[in-house]
Amino acid sequence: MQKTIALVAHDHKKPELLAWAAAHKNELAKHKLVATGTTGGLVAKQLALPVHCFKSGPLGGDQQIGALIAEKKLDCLIFFWDPLNPAPHDPDVKALLRLCSVWNLPVACNVATADMLITSPLFWDGSYQRVVPDL
Ligand code: PGA
Repeated sequence: MQKTIALVAHDHKKPELLAWAAAHKNELAKHKLVATGTTGGLVAKQLALPVHCFKSGPLGGDQQIGALIAEKKLDCLIFFWDPLNPAPHDPDVKALLRLCSVWNLPVACNVATADMLITSPLFWDGSYQRVVPDL
């Protein structure tokens, strides 16, 4: 079952996301990938995978991915946000995480959770039906 996966990593977290994406390239290649601008460009170049790139996060990319969630066009978010450095777009970061909770969207904010999510047959083989709130 092809899903739409969003990838977002803050600057200090980009190496972790790139390493994670490389480790799971075969799985990621089966799905539609979208990303904030800089993250998406790096993933597309280093993994040679097609990635739809939105604007850079601080320029509205986080909000564009949030819009996908609200429109029920996203299945999963891998979001390596940086807990040790302030982000100029902190309100957008919080808004994106908030929408994941509003819409019960699977979101991984670190490598361990992302590993479990990408390898979970519950999620990827179609046997798990995510409840999307009827709001
Ligand atoms: P970027 O955005 O991929 O364009 O760096 C990520 C973010 O800061 O949200």
